[in-house]
Amino acid sequence: MRGKTVIITGGASGIGKAAAGLFADAGANLIISDIDKLQGDLLVEEIFSKGGIATFYKTDVANPQQMEALVQYAVDTYGKLDIAVNNAGIGGEQNTITEMSLEGWQKIISINLSSVFYGMKYQIAAMLKNGGGSVVNISSILGAVGFASSAGYSAAKHGIIGLTQTAALEYSAQNIRVNAVGPGFIYTPLLNALDAKMKNQLIAMHPIGRLGKSAEVAELILWLGSEKASFVTGSYYPIDGGYLSK
Ligand code: NAD
Repeated sequence: MRGKTVIITGGASGIGKAAAGLFADAGANLIISDIDKLQGDLLVEEIFSKGGIATFYKTDVANPQQMEALVQYAVDTYGKLDIAVNNAGIGGEQNTITEMSLEGWQKIISINLSSVFYGMKYQIAAMLKNGGGSVVNISSILGAVGFASSAGYSAAKHGIIGLTQTAALEYSAQNIRVNAVGPGFIYTPLLNALDAKMKNQLIAMHPIGRLGKSAEVAELILWLGSEKASFVTGSYYPIDGGYLSK
């Protein structure tokens, strides 16, 4: 990863933070992007203290102008963009379709789906100028199946797979690989709102008998981003302790 410029959205917490740590350890020039500047700055300090190279850039992924500015910042700071991890996301409103508010629907589609389109629109344009690159989009197991009371989340995560496959068709011949990751339920702050009973119900849905760890998902993100995955594009990789095997 030495000399490679990597953007990670939602990089201040959970899966994005774990991925940032692995890319930094591998020697990448990192742009950690998030709406949470405090946590982002703390992570940059942590990476610096371990000898890594990172900078924080505040971005709301639901804002296309800010997503364009993020890519420009990466190019201005490190000269080019090689790898983008479109990871930022929220759990969103938990309601059945008839009860879901219109605002709740629009919010989750903006943050979890439109963000990935905005990201790729500007990231791929920068990568084309640089002769290639790799995009890793963070979907979910709920990109393959539904989940009651999570229509917006599931629709957004399914949509990410369609965007990923389409981008792969459009740009793979120009040396840009685009892949999606589908984590099962992972212990991160995203699950903080769940009570113990709900967590146990979620564990029971994973044949492996536990929820996943951010570090486990980060390994797959690093691999897909790297040249080790040079023949992999347009793919959706579940990493789910067997959730989708049922
Ligand atoms: P997290 O809450 O720990 O981290 C998400 C980060 O995104 C936070 O730092 C948050 O500040 C940031 N963020 C939120 N809204 C943003 C916005 N509008 N613009 C920029 N940044 C924003 O969550 P996580 O579990 O690490 O989730 C990361 C990704 O993984 C998400 O896309 C999520 O849907 C996906 N995912 C998570 C799980 C899980 O069980 N945790 C499972 C499958 C998929």
